[in-house]
Amino acid sequence: MTPVGRKALLLGSGELGKEVALELQRMGVEVVACDRYAGAPAMQVAHRHHVINMLDGKELRRVIELERPDHIIPEVEAIATDELVALEKEGYHVTPTATAARLTMNREGIRRLAAETLGVPTSKYRFADTKEEYLKAIDEIGIPCVVKPIMSSSGHGQTTVKTPEAVEHAWEESQAGGRAGAGRVIVEGFVPFDYEITLLTVRSISGTTYCAPIGHIQVEGDYRYSWQPQPMAPEALKKAQEIAKKVTDALGGYGIFGVELFVKGDEVIFSEVSPRPHDTGMVTMITQDLSEFALHARVLLGLPVPTITLHTPGASRAVVVEGDTDQIILGNLENVLAEPNTQMRIFGKPEIKGHRRMGVILASADTVDEARAKAERAYEKLEVKVLPRSK
Ligand code: AMP
Repeated sequence: MTPVGRKALLLGSGELGKEVALELQRMGVEVVACDRYAGAPAMQVAHRHHVINMLDGKELRRVIELERPDHIIPEVEAIATDELVALEKEGYHVTPTATAARLTMNREGIRRLAAETLGVPTSKYRFADTKEEYLKAIDEIGIPCVVKPIMSSSGHGQTTVKTPEAVEHAWEESQAGGRAGAGRVIVEGFVPFDYEITLLTVRSISGTTYCAPIGHIQVEGDYRYSWQPQPMAPEALKKAQEIAKKVTDALGGYGIFGVELFVKGDEVIFSEVSPRPHDTGMVTMITQDLSEFALHARVLLGLPVPTITLHTPGASRAVVVEGDTDQIILGNLENVLAEPNTQMRIFGKPEIKGHRRMGVILASADTVDEARAKAERAYEKLEVKVLPRSK
């Protein structure tokens, strides 16, 4: 126990969890990190860690009853959330709520809540378990459409179907790429948006507050660039905040939420929400007085956020590396960081299989365009060496 006497248990120890762990420690909190593999980013900075299968309810309960944390903080979707709901009923505190974790564990819970319960505008959608249901769903939604496993992130198993020839391949991808292996998919109507945003929404004892909108570009469903603030027409921003309020009120609790929205003219369409910091929100480490991680830590401890200050326009550029190795060198950093107001975070992930986000470059400038260009210049100087496996 630290002198402050609070203990937090992180479920998921990726780069976002690492920053949350650091921010909690700045508030004197003891941090215990969990993930399914050793050496995960947040474990490297936590007081202690456990390597467990977080989808296994029994293992999850064992660790929670062993640690008896004051705060249980999910950092990923893939958790035995029914067990979290049971633990919450027994008096544990889940950030923001166990129900929020359960509803966002897969794409179906949150989509049905938003579209069917809350009446928020979304793309058209169908769910399918079998190839037959999938073909029927494609028929009903029409082409172009987007096919995604209901349990996946970072674009794994996701395909945009633009022609009838691509229908077969998208099914195979979805069955190979889902987090839990083959299974249920969502087929969504393709939204021809002008731009997409993450609206970081903070629920705290001070009420609901919003960060300036974050614009981003995704490649194959995985974020590559983000920037803040994304310029928006006042009407569109108002609609975005209304949707974010509705959805986050339904999920409840204290914490930060990444509300993902598509914008076309003055029309705003809900895509999904993370009840935790969002990858595109890493830009706030250089733009805001309190980053999304500092905000999350602060509000989950029950502390107020009277205001959120955007100090400067800024941009982030994700460093995604491909390969199959446990030896990755990110080099030429002296030139990457040569320009003023440029920073980098290296996550320290121990290996790659396929593609993996290994770091992020951050830049600030007088305008978003300059910040984006600066981040890209820095990225181009980065030398990534993927060496053969050591073992
Ligand atoms: P997701 O994992 O659902 O956040 O999807 C990742 C990215 O794929 C989004 O940020 C969009 O760029 C794109 N995308 C997902 N769904 C749709 C859709 N229905 N229409 C157009 N683009 C989409």
